[in-house]
Amino acid sequence: MAKHRPDRDSWGSLSDKNVYDWSSEDEEPDGRARPVQVLLVKDDHTFELAEAALSRILLAEKVRDREVVAISVAGAFRKGKSFLMDFMLRYMYNHASEDWLGDANEPLTGFSWRGGSERETTGIQIWSEVFLVDKPDGRKVAVLLMDTQGTFDSQSTLRDSATVFALSTMISSMQVYNISQNIQEDDLQHLQLFTEYGRLAMEETFLKPFQSMIFLVRDWSFPYEFPYGQEGGMKFLEKRLKISENQHEELQNVRKHIHSCFTNISCFLMPHPGLKVATNPHFDGRLKEIDGEFTNNLKVLVPWLLSPRNIDVKEINGSKITCRGLVEYFKVRSKRRCSTLSPETAAVRRKRKSHSLSVVAFCISGHNKSVCGGDRPFLAPSELQARHGAIREEALQLFRGVKKMGGEEFSRRYLQQLESEVDEVFVQYIKHNDSKNIFHAARTPATLFVVIFV
Ligand code: GDP
Ligand code: MG
Repeated sequence: MAKHRPDRDSWGSLSDKNVYDWSSEDEEPDGRARPVQVLLVKDDHTFELAEAALSRILLAEKVRDREVVAISVAGAFRKGKSFLMDFMLRYMYNHASEDWLGDANEPLTGFSWRGGSERETTGIQIWSEVFLVDKPDGRKVAVLLMDTQGTFDSQSTLRDSATVFALSTMISSMQVYNISQNIQEDDLQHLQLFTEYGRLAMEETFLKPFQSMIFLVRDWSFPYEFPYGQEGGMKFLEKRLKISENQHEELQNVRKHIHSCFTNISCFLMPHPGLKVATNPHFDGRLKEIDGEFTNNLKVLVPWLLSPRNIDVKEINGSKITCRGLVEYFKVRSKRRCSTLSPETAAVRRKRKSHSLSVVAFCISGHNKSVCGGDRPFLAPSELQARHGAIREEALQLFRGVKKMGGEEFSRRYLQQLESEVDEVFVQYIKHNDSKNIFHAARTPATLFVVIFV
């Protein structure tokens, strides 16, 4: 297989041929397997699902009624996702044999990977060949490989990428979150944002919404602290995901959230592949030019992810699904995305807003009851001021303590709103309190009337 960089593509005028390097099935009549773009995020942030291509692949007779294992790799662009995917393909094509890595001089092909830093598409590609694998218990399952593309460099690309991440997480039974160098607080927060989309979309389920999440850290450079591989990865991950009392509430929430979303969470630390891989524009992926340490860990990583024993069938609400079921699920999930165009502004923000507003309302009603009860007697202004101050502080504490969605920045806005609303209530209460002061009220005939006859 050669790298596929066709002149044309099936998205017609949407695509810039120098940017997109995937092909549609129709263009390569030789029947060779290839990456097929099944979801594309367009420049106007709308999504397009290539239903026909998806159906052609997943509804092929030999796979459609098989239970499906869906494996996705996601994360920021130019971090070696497609490069890894191509090794996964090699493993699948060599039927998980001992020497699956193959010849040291064989160029790496499959999903397109490349150097440079030019603009990238955002979307999901699947490999057009679905592999049939015999599980040790005798069941034959279908294995689908998905490569995602996303950028995380601006608000709008982050939003699109969050949707792609959420969709690919929902659709896969295993999501490999490909991260460079370390698990930063940013990576966890991105993950929280992505999975929050997913969780909102899956409110109907009472189970953990997603199956397996693998943090794959590339270019890990502290093997003396945590060794390469899965065991070092797990220890490192435990440390990064640890919740401790003295941690900021926000950091605790991200960690709880991640734990609540996935049935299995693990981590693998990969070494740097060497300078040829990272910087040489003529590097074609041959093993000979990749650092031995990287290759050795690849020999552990790929079977750990893909061996027939380790792969899990995709489940939705606890039921295993087939390729046919996955097509339907893909359609439903991506249509919901398409119809809301910008999920953050629509679904998530609406929910966060109504949630925060209800917390504000709750706090104010508490304040109202304590200070402004209609049948409370007149208070001297200084006492009123003192009581208001104490109860105001109580309402703010209450707001800070109630579990809220949306993070610090979002809550701060509502905290300000709460402060100004409580102050407004106070102004009203001063008027109300004044009306109870018979001497004060006696100055105006109208209120005197009220005082005498009520
Ligand atoms: P993707 O955008 O995440 O799919 O990244 P690609 O797979 O297209 O790879 C982008 C570039 O990173 C290519 O030049 C690869 O040779 C290089 N690359 C692949 N794996 C690694 C890795 O583990 N570390 C580093 N530093 N570079 C890598
Ligand atoms: Mg890629």
